[in-house]
Amino acid sequence: MIDLNVLDKQCSRCSGLGRIENPHWFQFWTKLEGLKNSFRISEIEDRSINFEKITPDQPTEPMSFVCKECHGRGKVLTSEGKQLIEFIRFWMNPNY
Ligand SMILES: [Zn+2]
Repeated sequence: MIDLNVLDKQCSRCSGLGRIENPHWFQFWTKLEGLKNSFRISEIEDRSINFEKITPDQPTEPMSFVCKECHGRGKVLTSEGKQLIEFIRFWMNPNY
């Protein structure tokens, strides 16, 4: 029986998530969180504050990208796995 566990491993680039968080969104959330905190304080002092003007621009990019390393699988083939794929490719080819 083939030990399937040795054929693939967790993708190191995305830690098995299959996607990479967009840093622009992280920056946006951090900025927004900071604004919320400062707003709570300034709210008491000044109620006429224009919150929309100081809100950071929401990124138009997606929140996360599909990992280019594993194409969203979260796993990559080990050298043993690659060998098996080559083996299957050989036997799947009807032209031999
Ligand atoms: Zn990955």
